[in-house]
Amino acid sequence: MHHLDLRRLILLLTITATLLTFANSFHASYQTLHRQLIAQTLEANRAYAAKLAHSTDAFLRAAQQQLAYSAALLPERLDAEVERLKAQTGTFNGVFIVRADGRVQAAAPWGVGLVGSVLQTEGARRALAAREPLISTPYVGLRGHLLVFLSQPIFAPDGRYLGYVGGAIHLGQSDGSLQALLGNHYYQDGSQLYVVDANRHLLHHQEPSRIGEVVSGNPAVEAVLRGEEGSRRVLDGTGIDMLAGYAPVAGTGWGVVAQRPSAATLAALDGLMLEILLAALPFFIPMLVALWWLSKLIVRPLRQLAITARHWEFASAREQIRRVRAWYFEAEQLKLAMLDGLALLHGKLGRLNQENLTDPLTGLTNRRGLQLALERWQAQRRSFAVIAVDIDHFKQVNDSYGHDIGDRVLQHVSRLLGSVSRSSDLVCRGGGEEFTLLLPETSLEGALQVAERLRGLISHAPSPTGSFVTVSAGVAQWPGSAASVEVVLRLADEALYRAKRGGRNRAVVAGQTEVGSEDVPAG
Ligand code: GH3
Ligand code: MG
Ligand code: MG
Repeated sequence: MHHLDLRRLILLLTITATLLTFANSFHASYQTLHRQLIAQTLEANRAYAAKLAHSTDAFLRAAQQQLAYSAALLPERLDAEVERLKAQTGTFNGVFIVRADGRVQAAAPWGVGLVGSVLQTEGARRALAAREPLISTPYVGLRGHLLVFLSQPIFAPDGRYLGYVGGAIHLGQSDGSLQALLGNHYYQDGSQLYVVDANRHLLHHQEPSRIGEVVSGNPAVEAVLRGEEGSRRVLDGTGIDMLAGYAPVAGTGWGVVAQRPSAATLAALDGLMLEILLAALPFFIPMLVALWWLSKLIVRPLRQLAITARHWEFASAREQIRRVRAWYFEAEQLKLAMLDGLALLHGKLGRLNQENLTDPLTGLTNRRGLQLALERWQAQRRSFAVIAVDIDHFKQVNDSYGHDIGDRVLQHVSRLLGSVSRSSDLVCRGGGEEFTLLLPETSLEGALQVAERLRGLISHAPSPTGSFVTVSAGVAQWPGSAASVEVVLRLADEALYRAKRGGRNRAVVAGQTEVGSEDVPAG
């Protein structure tokens, strides 16, 4: 038998289709989630960078404004003013008032120690030269701190330049006000937040050791330093795939960058996909069961028809086909065609059988028919009696009247045999002028009576010779005479032989010496 059947094929087809569909939607979900996660992270980072850029801008404006306020005060109050600025605002780590000649007029928190000296720092030099509000690039100040220096020029009422008010803000230190503003959160997943100045110096970074470093090779930094606000997926300076949001700090040339490794964002994706898979599973299993059941339903009529077709010759085939519930077009048509075919086939076989099993001369069952009946009754354990019949001196009939008359005598005897037998009996011409009668469910005695009646009938009926013919008979019974059907047949033949030897025109029962009439044929 084939391992492939329609059922398996349908299941294979539907499950493959289902799995492909599922895989397809799974893939689509993956793609969508992937895009969304990236887009959301980019937008979140942009918004965060923009917020911090805005805060930084506001902070710096406030710081400048404080300096501007101080710068506008009368010169004699400046000593007190530095102390106030340093102590009261908390914005600056150091405040100076420097005269136009570069000498310190007042300084907090260092007091008189610095007064009169010339500040040699970068911020001081540039503030003096610029004579306008200024924010320096980061540099290392007098006490070794990295800082930015904010300055505001002081002008006399007549417009003369008198010097500047300057404030230093420490970078990367817990006492730095910018640090406090931007926060110091350290991210586990590799996210970064930093502020760069126009020269790509890091002004703020969650790793304080990196502050002051120059960053290069990050397209997000390049974009923010061009004044753009936005987000993009970039490879940062160390080659890490980052989702970066960025925003410039207005008026300073600084930029804020918030970035998160793509891998950290997408790590959530695996979990999400697993969730989708688990969510789909409760539907998937009943669906498979439903598919299995449906395929069974579709295949059943075809399968039943196919199995019946394999045992076409069985008499039950017709009934089996009739019972198949062909609930759809193809099965219905096949069923009808098979029923038609079966009817045709059985009709033809019936005719063929009849031709094969019938003796053409007498119309009686032939030896093959006898054999079939014996087999069937034996299989059914149906008891039967056998009467072996042989025409007496038939050779002489042929010799005296010719072969044609001999044939007619055979037909004549056959008719008489048929007239004595019941419809359930089988009358059979075994060959020549020998006949066998099978009488189902008949005892030896019953069979002997039939044999006697036959013998008497034949011996008194005028035959085509114009004279009378006689027959001799041997009677046996299965399973009474012997357990084996073959032996029973042989016993009947032996009884017949004894009837011949006993003088013919008589019936003998197997196992007995001759019994029967001493009648001599009339005529
Ligand atoms: P017995 O009483 O011992 O049976 O003698 P018998 O002559 O009947 O027996 P035997 O077997 O010697 O002869 C049978 C004859 O039957 C021989 C054959 O010519 C004849 N015969 C056999 N078949 C046919 C047939 O189909 N038609 C005709 N006409 N004769 C047949
Ligand atoms: Mg014979
Ligand atoms: Mg004979």
